[in-house]
Amino acid sequence: MKYIVVSGGVISGIGKGVIASSTGLLLKTLGLRVTSIKIDPYMNIDAGTMAPTEHGEVFVLDDGGEVDLDLGNYERYLDVTLARDNNITTGKIYREVIEKERRGDYLGKTVQIVPHLTNAIQDWIERVALQPVDDTGETPDVCIIELGGTVGDIESAPFVEALRQFQFRVGHENFALIHVSLVPLIGGEQKTKPTQAAIRDLRGLGLAPDMIAARCATPLEHAVIHKLSMFCHVGPDQVLGVHDVNSTYHVPLLLEQQGMMRFFRRRLQLDLDKLVSPASKSRGLHLRERWRDLTLSQERTFDTVNIVLIGKYTSLQDSYMSVVKALEHASLRCRHKLVLKWVESSDLESRTETEDPVKYHEAWQHLCSAKGIIIPGGFGKRGTEGMILAVRWAREKNVPFLGICLGLQVAVIEYARNVCGMREANSAELDEPCPEPVVVYMPEISRTHLGGTMRLGLRPTIFNSASTSWSKIRKLYGDAPVIWERHRHRYEVNPETAPLIESTSVPGSSETLQFIGKNEKGERMQVAELKGHPYFVAMQAHPEFTSRPLNPSPPFLGLVAAAAGMLDDVVEQQVKEYKPPHPHASMILESEREAQAAP
Ligand code: GLN
Repeated sequence: MKYIVVSGGVISGIGKGVIASSTGLLLKTLGLRVTSIKIDPYMNIDAGTMAPTEHGEVFVLDDGGEVDLDLGNYERYLDVTLARDNNITTGKIYREVIEKERRGDYLGKTVQIVPHLTNAIQDWIERVALQPVDDTGETPDVCIIELGGTVGDIESAPFVEALRQFQFRVGHENFALIHVSLVPLIGGEQKTKPTQAAIRDLRGLGLAPDMIAARCATPLEHAVIHKLSMFCHVGPDQVLGVHDVNSTYHVPLLLEQQGMMRFFRRRLQLDLDKLVSPASKSRGLHLRERWRDLTLSQERTFDTVNIVLIGKYTSLQDSYMSVVKALEHASLRCRHKLVLKWVESSDLESRTETEDPVKYHEAWQHLCSAKGIIIPGGFGKRGTEGMILAVRWAREKNVPFLGICLGLQVAVIEYARNVCGMREANSAELDEPCPEPVVVYMPEISRTHLGGTMRLGLRPTIFNSASTSWSKIRKLYGDAPVIWERHRHRYEVNPETAPLIESTSVPGSSETLQFIGKNEKGERMQVAELKGHPYFVAMQAHPEFTSRPLNPSPPFLGLVAAAAGMLDDVVEQQVKEYKPPHPHASMILESEREAQAAP
């Protein structure tokens, strides 16, 4: 196993994740199997309890792990399926060591950061790196380890020390390090001093950079590369410039052009003739071609498609990272440039009209001019009345609509209120006490613990047979009778009021909201579609998490295609060609999960 660590200096948030996943992608184009581990040096066990506005979206894995959004980057770039253990946090490592101590595994010893915690980190990495991450079931060749935060923080110190030891545990030819740094542009001049200081810090902790990836607004000047090489004690071929580009999809090619793979093949003694079978080699070449086409076609698209995202965490765009990526993937497939407008849902509410008329009118302006409307997931009451107004607009004005998780729940509330005449219809989450609950708390969910207790992970949805004749979403999924998507929720559509909703049609038309997809026991409303509308789909799951650049998520593809006026063609193509991205091993039925979880 070869390990490539990606660490960061100077400041965080300069695209370490993109550089790490692009490196992985390049290794894949050589025909190698690549996995990845993200280290988050915070005390939380996982990202599940963190506010999206603080740390970006919570990404959900097939196994129900609630993890850092960087794992989403890896899954998308490397086309792999990761597990919760691929995300290491300080909380998880401490928990493991403390549990061992309580069991008596260290009996007689004083348990310390070094060596006990640092050993636990190294053991964890070695164990997880070996796990297969795709349907081949084969062990990966290379593991990319991204260390969150910046080197030198108190938080990351035990991990830095563990990695220092790890280079000797696995051997020099199996361990390399990329340090991502920042070269600020001051008065037009590219400044190297922060990077020099960052590399000094790194060396002081016993780690030497094999490659310095220098982020800069503009392409690195030749002289700057040489200066960095001299002051940071590396060869000029070990300094890579990563300047700002239109789209992150260009980064792999940018790294490749500067000889990154040439360097790693030598440095890690990657004997490709031995490691890579002819079939894997040609798969790698094919991937490279398809990636290149993707980036080129992105540059050559001029038609635009206007989508509006009605959310409640729009102050930080990372809160909807996967949703945006899924929309991008869909737009690329439709050969349209995505023009995405963000609307904070509470700005659509009448209260805002008096408090802040400018915001209110702007929000409605965006909504009215959109060719497609998406309402993603969320928690809590704030802004949900604005979402309900947006759903009504989409439904009545025949604007293509996609509701995800909370988006499904508000769509059901809107229909119940405005079509079924249930004036006080609401969700038990949003109105307490709730006189007409059309969305209720799921009976099995804990009422005392919030961490890791939602209905999580990959679960099947079975389409009813009646949907075959008319459902667009079903066809977008290749006309499959069963689909699998990742879930993350505590509330569900009330099974008691669902029949009334389904049997009430929109006055003056034949439109009806149908719950066409349910869980395997047939009791949970997981996919709703408005029959008779150009495109109105709502899902309890989060399909955005499994969208891939070269295999866009079907509901997103449907939204963008409908907004671009090309839904029929896309549906026809999907029926013929759609292949789901989930490996077989992840597809565990709910009954099997329950049996596994039972004591
Ligand atoms: N808050 C809703 C629930 O818990 C929706 C969750 C979500 O959108 N992820 O069911």
